[in-house]
Amino acid sequence: MINKKNEKNIVWHEHQLSKKQRARLKGQKACVLWFTGLSGSGKSTIANALEQRLYALNKHTYLLDGDNIRLGLNKDLGFSDKDRIENIRRIGEVSKLFIDSGTMVLTAFISPFLADRNIVRKLVEKGEFIEVFVDTALTICENRDPKGLYLNAREGKISNFTGISSPYEVPLSAEIHLKTEGKSVKTCVVQIIDYLNSKGYL
Ligand code: ADP
Repeated sequence: MINKKNEKNIVWHEHQLSKKQRARLKGQKACVLWFTGLSGSGKSTIANALEQRLYALNKHTYLLDGDNIRLGLNKDLGFSDKDRIENIRRIGEVSKLFIDSGTMVLTAFISPFLADRNIVRKLVEKGEFIEVFVDTALTICENRDPKGLYLNAREGKISNFTGISSPYEVPLSAEIHLKTEGKSVKTCVVQIIDYLNSKGYL
């Protein structure tokens, strides 16, 4: 929570070394590839495969993954709308710090609300936010059920589960729209690499 009282006494400190310099040293353009989609849609799988591909291209990356962040930085947060909003806000701020360090950030969070994703988009500079919509039908995600979560949600053991008892707001203008049905992970990675190449990120 922002403490307005404290905010008044805090002044942003300009650093001597710029984001551009740090990115140049790494030979890349810093950005965040923001994966969004239902649980089980393939965000983590595709982001992991993409990160390996970028590593092979000598790019400095960092992957922020939903469960991992919820086990650490955000372990005080649950899945109510309020906590989901705070979850995404913090991840947005962390992504911004990584971008400032010149890193290519990959994030894999359901991030179900349009407004929250747009807050992160506005938090960073133009061209730094690349929304990747992992578009996999709910039925497919539910059939995969890699963590058994859908089963628990259907049985009412998990509340506020995206797609079942909590909404997922589809991106309206994602930079990259991955229609995963019938596509391999590799094909999805190629689509992202092609985008990054065509827009001068690589
Ligand atoms: P999420 O991070 O969105 O919750 P995961 O990546 O953890 O999803 O799980 C997706 C599951 O779907 C994995 O078991 C993965 O192997 C499988 N899968 C099958 N086809 C694909 C595909 N084209 N893209 C991504 N994942 C796929």
